[in-house]
Amino acid sequence: MAASSLPDDLLDDLLDDLRDALGPDAVLTDPDLLRAYERDEADLCAAGTPLAVTRPRSTDEVAAVVRAAGRYGVPVVPQGARTGLAGAANAIDGALVLSTTAMDAILEIDPVSRIARVQPGVINATLSAAVTQQGLWYPPDPGSWESSTIGGNVATNAGGMCCVKYGVTSEYVLGLEVVLASGEVLRTGRRTAKGVAGYDLTRLFVGSEGTLGVITEVTVALRPAPAESLTLVAVFGSTATAGEAVARIAAQGLSPSLLELLDRTHLVAIEAYRPMGLRTDAEALLLAAVDTGLRAAADLADLAAVCEAAGAEEVYAATDAVEAAALLQARRLAHPAMERYAAETYPGGNGGLIIDDLAVPRGALAALLDGVARIAAECEVPIGVVGHAGDGNMHPNIVVDRADPASLERGRRAFDEIMRLGLDLGGTCTGEHGVGLLKRDWLAREIGPVGVRVHQAIKAALDPAGLLNPGKVL
Ligand SMILES: Cc1cc2nc3c(=O)[nH]c(=O)nc-3n(C[C@H](O)[C@H](O)[C@H](O)COP(=O)(O)OP(=O)(O)OC[C@H]3O[C@@H](n4cnc5c(N)ncnc54)[C@H](O)[C@@H]3O)c2cc1C
Repeated sequence: MAASSLPDDLLDDLLDDLRDALGPDAVLTDPDLLRAYERDEADLCAAGTPLAVTRPRSTDEVAAVVRAAGRYGVPVVPQGARTGLAGAANAIDGALVLSTTAMDAILEIDPVSRIARVQPGVINATLSAAVTQQGLWYPPDPGSWESSTIGGNVATNAGGMCCVKYGVTSEYVLGLEVVLASGEVLRTGRRTAKGVAGYDLTRLFVGSEGTLGVITEVTVALRPAPAESLTLVAVFGSTATAGEAVARIAAQGLSPSLLELLDRTHLVAIEAYRPMGLRTDAEALLLAAVDTGLRAAADLADLAAVCEAAGAEEVYAATDAVEAAALLQARRLAHPAMERYAAETYPGGNGGLIIDDLAVPRGALAALLDGVARIAAECEVPIGVVGHAGDGNMHPNIVVDRADPASLERGRRAFDEIMRLGLDLGGTCTGEHGVGLLKRDWLAREIGPVGVRVHQAIKAALDPAGLLNPGKVL
């Protein structure tokens, strides 16, 4: 068991209360197990050791955990699959981790209303597969879709590759069940196609990163399955030219179902991670798809023409669905491939990544990409860029040597410079990964003092003792 600020007798009482409510198997205190729940996938973010991990199976059990935490004044850190990239799910010393992974039931799929109702621990890909069997589609598709949970996706308002056409998680969340810090159960939203009753509390909890309540049930909207897509690859001599092509695609009213950018660092890293014949000599590659059925071939030709006019050195269409799937898979491998690339860049496997996630207006994408290249040179750190170009949402991945304080300092300076540039270009400090621990300072700069006060007032109203995921977001 980890160190706790609770006196031993109270700690024992708390654990007894939790075991009574959840059963002994759902309360983990073995130090080896606790270590496994300390952090999410964000590199270089602080994490503590929880006093216990709880794995409730129902809303009542979640409420029991939250009430017990409240009685003893112990913070609660909600966790899904811990794939987060901002440290938002990182444990805090002496806190209770509330893992939703045992709440993994799909409660309902209603093809008439086109909705699904799920517990928060359902994996995104599991829901996707289940609705596909009924000819339906749940679009939000973060790169982590095979491991991240719907609860985590909702709590971070996750994006993904198809969001350029179909929108992010918040656009699919119709209603929520949430256990509040008081232990009360709040139901928000609706299951109807329309509904405007009261404040939009559903949206308030979407993206709240576990700081306002524990999401215990999610009702999502589904769509009919899309038509099969056609895919093209455009090769550019610089990332900024690829960014310019994205702006032109938008300006011409084209509507790709996917528009992703990979720079040379990523192409090299992915090819080393899993050889698949990618053009590692290209400075930047745009991956685009259309899913417009009978119009798809013509729409793909329009996309190709815009890329060529913007300066693409080469444009080619995927020959078949197998090649298109391989290209998509290459894009999905960007994160693990860059992790390995970073580890191998410095001696002793000491390389790490500071992952940025800013979004700028599409018209400013070229300026952002130019600026990132300049900052990499000025700060003398390798920076690879990948992202959802069609949304203006880029992930500059800053490669640092964890064993070298000077390298870490240069990496952090580059991170700040990129953030500053993004905000100056009219952007936001996080397009999809959330604020977590990584971007708290930048959130405050982005929303200003009035925005900070409103955030604090909402937090104080819902969680007056500050027990839910403290230190995250604000
Ligand atoms: C390889 C890889 C690719 C990725 N690609 C994308 C991408 O394309 N788009 C994108 O947006 N993100 C991406 N991510 C980031 C991450 O997968 C998402 O943020 C995801 O939504 C996190 O889900 P999770 O279940 O892992 O949540 P966690 O990481 O466990 O938690 C994330 C946050 O949600 C809170 N939380 C979790 N469950 C609940 C709940 N039930 N109630 C209240 N709060 C809760 C936690 O407290 C924390 O603040 C990627 C990550 C990896 C590793």
